[in-house]
Parts: sequence; C-alpha cells; structure tokens
Amino acid sequence: MANIVQLLPDNIANQIAAGEVIQRPASVVKELLENAVDADATEIDLIVKDAGKTLIRVIDNGSGMSDEDARMALERHATSKIRSSDDLFSIKTMGFRGEALASIASISHVEIKTKERSNDLGSQVLVEGSEVKKQEPTQTKNGTSIAVKNLFYNVPARRKFLKSDQVELRHIIDEFERVALPNPHIKFTFHHNDNELFHLDPGSFRQRVVAVFGKKFRERLVPVEQKTNILDLRGFVGKPESARKTRGEQFFFVNGRFIKSHYLHHAISEAMEELIPKGYHPSYFIELQVEPDFIDVNIHPTKTEIKFEDERAIYAIVSSSVRQAIGQYNITPTIDFEQ
Ligand code: ADP
Ligand code: MG
Repeated sequence: MANIVQLLPDNIANQIAAGEVIQRPASVVKELLENAVDADATEIDLIVKDAGKTLIRVIDNGSGMSDEDARMALERHATSKIRSSDDLFSIKTMGFRGEALASIASISHVEIKTKERSNDLGSQVLVEGSEVKKQEPTQTKNGTSIAVKNLFYNVPARRKFLKSDQVELRHIIDEFERVALPNPHIKFTFHHNDNELFHLDPGSFRQRVVAVFGKKFRERLVPVEQKTNILDLRGFVGKPESARKTRGEQFFFVNGRFIKSHYLHHAISEAMEELIPKGYHPSYFIELQVEPDFIDVNIHPTKTEIKFEDERAIYAIVSSSVRQAIGQYNITPTIDFEQ
C-alpha cells in the first residue's frame, strides 16, 4: 500500500487552529488588544464596523515591529514572548502561544502597519487567507495598526453562525472591558460605526471601573485589599445594597488577565451571602497578583482558565478578604441571624 499520511499545508493547519482560538469577531478583538498591551502601548484605539463582521482595527503606540518581524508574526507558533519550555512557567505577557495572528490571517484579510521608534520608515503587510499579497516600506506612526477585514470570508459555516450585530457587539464590548479594566494606566478609545462607545483616560483602577460602568459605581465600591506571602489582592466589591437580580458586573483578574473561575466566584458569593438577599448577585472587580510560577495559564487556547498551585489557599484568602472589607464598612446584615 502507498503511504498516505501527509503534513497539512500551513494555511489549512492555521485554519484548524483558528477554529479553536477565533470563534467570533470578539475573539479577534481580544487577541489584538492583548498584543497591544504586550507591546507596552500607553494608548490603544479600537475601531469596529458592523460588529466586527466587516472591520476590526486596533491601533497602538507600542513597540512596533521590524520589517522581518511584521511578516514573521503571521507564522504559526511564531512569538517573541517565550523562548523555551521553562518560560511557560514564568509567563508575564498576555500572549505566548504565537497562534493568534496566524489564525486570524488564515480566515480574513489582514493589513498590518507598524513602525519601531528607532526607524524612520515602517512596514506594511497585506495578507489574505495566510497568503502574503504585499509587503513594502511605508510612512506610518510609531507603533502598530492591525486591520482585520471580512472575517471568516473563507469559512462560510462560521460566517453563517454569527449572531446579530447586537449580540456580536455585546461580546466585543465584554472583551474590551476585560482588557481595559485591568490596564487603567492605558488610554483606550472604542468606536463602533462612527459612534464613540468608550473614551477611557489613564487613571486608577477605581477611576477605570467608574469610567467603564458609570458614575453610579462611585459610591458603591468597597475596597478589598490583602497581601500575603503568596499573593497580592486588590479591588472592589459592590456594596450589598447595590446587588442586582441580573448577574452584575463580576470580574476576576489574575496577573492582568481576565479569568473565569466558578470556584473563586463562589469564594466571593459565599463571603457576601449573608448580606445579599437570595436571587441577587454581587458585583466585584478583583485583581490578584501572584508569582507566575504559581499558576498555569496554558490549559486552554483562549487562556481564560488557569490552574493555581494551591487553589484552596487562594479561596480562603479571597473569601476572608471580602468578609473583612465588608465588615470594615460597617454594613449590618439585613436579616438578624441571632437565635
Ligand atoms: P503571541 O501574542 O502569542 O506571541 P501573536 O500571534 O498574537 O502571538 O503575535 C505574534 C508576535 O507578533 C508577538 O509575539 C509579537 O512579537 C508580535 N506582535 C503582534 N502584535 C503586535 C503589536 N501590536 N505590537 C508589537 N508586536 C506585535
Ligand atoms: Mg497574541
């Protein structure tokens, strides 16, 4: 029998990887914003048309890329963020898999314009479905602008299953908030079809929460702080009386990364349980800083789940910090629990 096993061509391998990482326009927004943060940008602009179905553009004033890197960045498993497997246990950047740009470029039309501060001229790269159509020197600002057009143009099944603009935009706003909140030192703007949805000036974490969710939060935030030998916790919980019936704003960040954790959500809910009527949900904005070797972020392609080395200890610290913070604010339970 003839041998029939072959390596897949790059563009197909990239498309398969894209199936995992890029589920919808919001996934592109997440990846591009995270790259801008990793490039040490102090200003990031997000421009979206038709809920990302026709255009997603992220402009940053970060490090920029050399000509060679601008093209290399589009290759699969190409990254500047890790070098060896040891680095996987000390990740300080949002990215490290080197998959996002390659995945995005395999299912859309991508235009990169980028310039390093030390160069006079920048570089422009045009890619369609993994194929580089053009690369040439260009006059452009310091930093990087990446435009992603016609997402899923060659994946009709994905395109067909996109939801209404309203729903897709909601997902984009969620991803935007998840990056903007833990990076209050960065200025962000976000335009959708020529409407400015967000204009966030640099400031403190508290100011960022208020800028994103509205002035009503100014009076509602109870600070939570705790420093132990394994972690540094800071942030806010909403006062119990501001709890809502719909799931409130609930954000958990670990080393600047938005994390979904039912376990830690439970730690907070439990701490506030006695103060909040059944069926209401607390809002919280909690940031943990831990040593990178204390967590494993490499368990899911979108990196929204992580493993802690000692999850129980974290649970206990989170829960007790929230209790303490609420206690200090002299908030008395609405129900008398004494017999
Ligand atoms: P990862 O972020 O996991 O390294 P990506 O595919 O998202 O993988 O990006 C590949 C590489 O391209 C990055 O490691 C980085 O060196 C470079 N890069 C991507 N976006 C930017 C940007 N906005 N500014 C500077 N460099 C960038
Ligand atoms: Mg990345």
